Amino acid sequence: MNEFSEALLAWYRQYHRRLPWRENPDPYWIYLSEVMLQQTRMESALPYFENFIRELPTLEDLASVDEERLMKLWEGLGYYSRARNLKKGANYIVTEFGGCLPEEPKELQKIPGIGPYSAGAIASTLYQKPVCAIDGNVLRVFSRLYRLEHSLPGAALTKAVREKVLALLPHESPGDFNQALMELGALICKPNSPDCPSCPVRSFCLSADAQDVSDFPRRKKKTPPKEEQHTVIMLEKDGEFAVEKKSTGLLRGLYRFPMTVGHLNSSELQDLLEGKGFAIKEIHFIGESSHAFSHRIWRMVLFHVLLEEKSHFYEWFEKKRLAELPIASAFRAVKQWLGL
Ligand code: SF4
Repeated sequence: MNEFSEALLAWYRQYHRRLPWRENPDPYWIYLSEVMLQQTRMESALPYFENFIRELPTLEDLASVDEERLMKLWEGLGYYSRARNLKKGANYIVTEFGGCLPEEPKELQKIPGIGPYSAGAIASTLYQKPVCAIDGNVLRVFSRLYRLEHSLPGAALTKAVREKVLALLPHESPGDFNQALMELGALICKPNSPDCPSCPVRSFCLSADAQDVSDFPRRKKKTPPKEEQHTVIMLEKDGEFAVEKKSTGLLRGLYRFPMTVGHLNSSELQDLLEGKGFAIKEIHFIGESSHAFSHRIWRMVLFHVLLEEKSHFYEWFEKKRLAELPIASAFRAVKQWLGL
């Protein structure tokens, strides 16, 4: 084994975080954790993972869960297409692979929601296949180790890092090696404050030698997220509130409160609702909130509107039932106001 791997693995075996899927490397647990950790930090994903395992203890349970329950379990974790792919993937594993995760990365990538990174992580962790698993942590660590000039994100950087990782990957423990690189990025070689003095591979690091760690990885200019203004309307009639379920677009599969584009004031909102045939008793402005998606930000003004009559445009639920529905996180302020 090369010296880099020895130093990294010795550190990993002593300091890695004790996580359920590391303590119990069950294929279902590894599959679930890999999908949850795409675009989500470990600390945020962990309680969701534990809840999923409690509620859906087997791959077959996940494959057959109904969509509303799935969305409720996923509520708050974001990137909801992952939840739909998680179930689709579980179905695929059950129907195409008899419930067992295949060993080869190419086969693994046929599963909906499993890309090259997850396939590499699963194949190396579960089956000790000598393949790499390159996530954002690994890209950052190797950019710094070798002072790579390729920008993040970018295919050129991924390719350069893959070559470097494969050259160092020890064939006797590829799973631990991949996990160790990701752990190094998460615990030591952090984006803003790398702890170089504590780093097990400090003696191999070119940017630490050159004292320009903060210049790596090189970054492309980010396009700022697009800001959108919305008015969110809590329509209430006799203790029941109006919601609608989105079947397409950004919040597909989730419930949302009625909303309209732009920031309306009370009288504009009254005109709009009356124009649509609503009979209004009272309108109250209740506050403002924001929610950041990956490429856009919603700036919302929130209103509570008491009606004389319900409208058939929406579904109506009491608070107790609302609390059970998967409601998009963008409406966290509304849910708080309702005490859900
Ligand atoms: S020495 Fe510093 S910059 Fe280099 S890999 Fe370690 S933590 Fe990252």
